[in-house]
Order: sequence, then C-alpha cells, then structure tokens
Amino acid sequence: VSRLRPATAALALVLLGGGAGASPACGPQALGTARTLTLPRTGAAWGSAQQYPRLPLAAGEVVLTFDDGPRPESTPQVLQALAQQCVQATFFMNGEPLLRAPELARRVRDAGHTVAMHGFTHASFASMPVAGQQADLAAMQQAHAQVLGGHAPAFRFPFLAETAEAKAALAAQRITVMSVDLGIEDWLPAQTPSMLAERLLQRLQGAGGGIVLLHDAQDQTAAALPALLQALKDGGYRVVHLRWEE
Ligand SMILES: [Zn+2]
Repeated sequence: VSRLRPATAALALVLLGGGAGASPACGPQALGTARTLTLPRTGAAWGSAQQYPRLPLAAGEVVLTFDDGPRPESTPQVLQALAQQCVQATFFMNGEPLLRAPELARRVRDAGHTVAMHGFTHASFASMPVAGQQADLAAMQQAHAQVLGGHAPAFRFPFLAETAEAKAALAAQRITVMSVDLGIEDWLPAQTPSMLAERLLQRLQGAGGGIVLLHDAQDQTAAALPALLQALKDGGYRVVHLRWEE
C-alpha cells in the first residue's frame, strides 16, 4: 500500500495543478489564466498605442482582448479555444452586433470573460461631430445595459481614434479607456494560423508583454486561436485576466 502513496499524491497534484477554482481539465498542460488584475472604476486610460500608460503587468504577462463581436459565425469558436486552454479574456463588443446576438453576448460573460464597449456602429469617433459621438456612446451604453445589465466599465475607441470630447465624456462617467500595446494585423486578408502565431511572438518579444488586440469577429482569428494560445504557452507567456471593481 505504501508504494502506491506517491502515485496517489502525484495524481492529486495533477488534479490541483490549475489552481483554486480550476476544473481538472485546466491542468498544467493548459495555458491557463495566471492571475486576475482588478482595476478601479475610473476615467483612466491604458495602452501604449495611444500613448497612455501601460497596465501594471510584469514582463511576460499578456492581456488578451477581442474586438468587434459578438458574431455567431466566429465568436463561439473563440470561446471554445479559450475554454480549452482555460484562458479568460476581455471582449470589446460593438452595440449593433450586441443587440443582434444578445444570447451570445451573455454566453461570453457567463463563461467568465470581461465584456466592455467598442462603439455602437464602429464608426470612427474622430470623423463624427460631437453630437454624433455623444449619440453613439449613449446608444452603446444603452445596448450594453439592455443585454448585459449594469454599467460597462471600459471603452475602446473604434480604430483607436480618440477625441477629446468623447474622452472627457467617458472620464466624467468613470469609464476606463482601453487602448492596446500590440496587435497582429489579424484583420488583413489571408492570414494563416502560423503567420499570426509567428507575428504574435515577434511583437511580444519587442513589447515584453502587454495588451494584445485580436478580433473575435474574424474567421481567421477564430481558426488561429488554438495556435496562438499554444504559442503563448510555449513562449512562457502568462495570461492576466482584466476585471473592474463592481
Ligand atoms: Zn474594432
């Protein structure tokens, strides 16, 4: 009997490998979510692409973000790839698709991901008059409240095209502006999983980690996501789940 004990202990360690709250499927073979970073509800702005400060992340830590959904043709595949690697992400949803696919939006949230806003129509705020910007933002917030309840904590400008007026409106409502630290051009035509995975590792090597921009509304991104997550795992990167205080 005593000779079986080490094996039993090893099995218990494997089962507990994913950490507290993880299911047995989230063992050490999965990329997993290393930690949660909970931000206060403020009008702060984060991300080097728009010359904002970088999030307080350690070297090698990444925050995965997905824009332009929810889209029934590709978002479920993204959810499946994330679940298989036990990874939590942040989805910046547009208002129009949110209203078209409310059940899918709630599925994203109920899978434990963070849901934030990305503009009602995806028009560039920089090309809209101030009244149009206000109307888009109000419609976006209304769509989020109607489908998901509560107040969305964060906003990403479509095309990262900010305006002083919209930034002031967001700050007044303590909505965080989320930019990015790097993207992998997953919106370009005909990108294969290996091309995207290689680009992800290149960009991460340059940036050392940070907020990664991806698009769950892109078929090729959904198809490439298992390869992207495996590349992160093999590269020793750690995923941080972004949340906001209630
Ligand atoms: Zn977008």
